[in-house]
Amino acid sequence: SNDYRVVVFGAGGVGKSSLVLRFVKGTFRDTYIPYGGGHLPPGHAFILVYSITSKQSLEELKPIYQQVLAIKGNVEAIPIMLVGNKSDETLREVETKDGEAQANQWKCAFMETSAKTNHNVTELFQELLNLDKKRNMSL
Ligand code: GDP
Repeated sequence: SNDYRVVVFGAGGVGKSSLVLRFVKGTFRDTYIPYGGGHLPPGHAFILVYSITSKQSLEELKPIYQQVLAIKGNVEAIPIMLVGNKSDETLREVETKDGEAQANQWKCAFMETSAKTNHNVTELFQELLNLDKKRNMSL
């Protein structure tokens, strides 16, 4: 089937909608429309987004990761990407190496992106699919 669900998690304001909008439509908007998510929706691949300008937003991903782990059992079997968005911002609270360290601990892939400048956005979704292929091949 052509149904492939990518679930995007993250605290309010980290840029989830912006990343998706940038990827799907190639546009970026400055207005912020908050979206309140419920419990874990079914997905084939997961993107966990924080903002590099907020340590708190990385902290908030921890219970979400635990939830994915609890539901999926083995996270190495599914494509998961930890994403530090707003890499264009200069007021950085989370260093690249700290994002990498968290991803290593979670055994998931890592990337820094900017929905604003379109940095690594296509690469993010491409890499997610690559992870899926690698995983399918190693079954
Ligand atoms: P969401 O709540 O996670 O979906 O966040 P949004 O996509 O609505 O973005 C929240 C705010 O951050 C908006 O004002 C966006 O314009 C801004 N934003 C999103 N991505 C970026 C980015 O990569 N860089 C910068 N500087 N701002 C961003």
